[in-house]
Amino acid sequence: AKTLRLILGDQLNAAHSWFQQQDDDVLYLLAELHQEASYVVHHIQKLVGFFLAMENFARTLRQEGHRVEYMTLDETTNYRDLAALIQAKVREHQIEVFEYQLPDEYRLDRQLQEIAQQLKCSVQAVDSEHFLTGRDAWQKYPHHRMEYFYRQLRKEAQVLMDENQQPLGEQWNFDQENRKALPKKLVLPEPLVFAHEVMQTVERIQRHGLKSLGQVEASAFIWPVTREEACLLLKDFLARCLANFGRYQDALTDRGWSLYHSRLSFALNTKMLRPLEVIRAAEDYWQTHQEEITLAQIEGFVRQILGWREFVRALYWEKMPEYAQLNGLQAQRDLPDFYWDGQTHMACMRQAIGQSLEFAYAHHIQRLMVTGNFALLAGIHPDQVDAWYLGVYIDAIEWVELPNTRGMSQFADEGLLASKPYAASGNYINKMSDHCSGCFYRVKEKSGPRSCPFNSLYWHFLHRHRDRLQKNPRMKFPYASWRKMDVEQQQLILTTAEQHLQQLNQL
Ligand code: FAD
Repeated sequence: AKTLRLILGDQLNAAHSWFQQQDDDVLYLLAELHQEASYVVHHIQKLVGFFLAMENFARTLRQEGHRVEYMTLDETTNYRDLAALIQAKVREHQIEVFEYQLPDEYRLDRQLQEIAQQLKCSVQAVDSEHFLTGRDAWQKYPHHRMEYFYRQLRKEAQVLMDENQQPLGEQWNFDQENRKALPKKLVLPEPLVFAHEVMQTVERIQRHGLKSLGQVEASAFIWPVTREEACLLLKDFLARCLANFGRYQDALTDRGWSLYHSRLSFALNTKMLRPLEVIRAAEDYWQTHQEEITLAQIEGFVRQILGWREFVRALYWEKMPEYAQLNGLQAQRDLPDFYWDGQTHMACMRQAIGQSLEFAYAHHIQRLMVTGNFALLAGIHPDQVDAWYLGVYIDAIEWVELPNTRGMSQFADEGLLASKPYAASGNYINKMSDHCSGCFYRVKEKSGPRSCPFNSLYWHFLHRHRDRLQKNPRMKFPYASWRKMDVEQQQLILTTAEQHLQQLNQL
């Protein structure tokens, strides 16, 4: 071979122009790397999912006639690091050109640039051909708020637009219609899951002493690990979930773990699926099923992928590496132990954390308004919050995890991503969920040992950050409510919050 092409675990894009032609002079390399498996403690399902998807991708490429070397942990363990591995492969195969796709993570981008400088052969970095926007999107598009960024992309990609270049339904945004709690009698769809045998992979991970968290069913791994499976999951989502997606996307429940969410994030982030293909598939499906699926449902879905997903990536590349250090609210507390085992009396937190450990998945509102909201109110250090989110979710890769966690949920960027902190009391969780009626804590109480911790912590959060936040026009109402309370009640609430904060692990 003359050319060596590195494929990272989140670059499983079969439609990449690299693969359009078979060439015996090109060797593809996929490698299970210790560094990637240990830069944070990952959920075991995340490790397994990446390795399996990589192996399957390598097999598919081989079947298509490409030359592929797949290295397991057993083989890569002999190399000091990625640089040593690539240098060895360049020597072994007398490589003249080393090529890689631009990684999505800052860390790897840096590392590959350094490797490139050390190599004696020529080096070329190419686009990953996945996103709709480039790394420079923050400057290129309206970036002040996601909404305008999203509108611009809708126009450019001609998604849900009419022939006069106006949004279908004469409205860009149907968020107001998308905030419903689940009706009691509604029967949720059973999530489509796969059932892979993963004993060998799990054993390999354990044999190499790689730390992990959460659990895995060794004979029934549920996530899609081939393009075919990813496509099946997409099809199933369109047929069974899209009609209710927008309506219930903010709902929380004990009755299921994914509601009407697509669970496509892992397939998207590994690039087994392309964002535009998912958007077009949804649009096509909606076109032919308009009697069941309203515009608000499809728009809600498109907004997440075309809007939020591209927007957070734009922010990431604009603000890294400083972004990873931001701690605008100076949060310093340790993450409570129950984030690692789900052992808490708070029913909403038990559900969100419990299913995260069981399935490596929680949906957006659980991540934002339950676990994220709690960490925000309790003032947990964003480094620890990030490490948890980056480890626990099957879809967690830094470019998307970091802006969502540090920015959107912890307000550590002081409003670059969100115009106000996503802070909410128990009242919000009660309105959106069925958790509170069976909870040990009383959601209607603001103070006292059995009062919902989200209540007192919410007011404590507002009170302690008043200098910074009360000028924010979007925070006017909560501060007005706080001021309306009599001083005695305020004191009781703050004392309760202090007590909670002193023993977070006991909640
Ligand atoms: P659906 O609800 O079905 O949405 C469809 C798709 O839209 C998702 O697959 C995803 O690709 C995209 N999407 C939706 N919301 C966002 C968003 N805010 N940012 C980027 N893309 C979005 N998403 C990740 O992919 N990886 C992460 O590590 C991650 N960490 C998060 C951490 C926090 C604190 C929060 C609040 C959100 C995080 N998100 C992350 C965004 C979002 O919660 C997940 O993308 C979503 O829950 C994945 O489940 P789904 O595929 O069923 O999504």
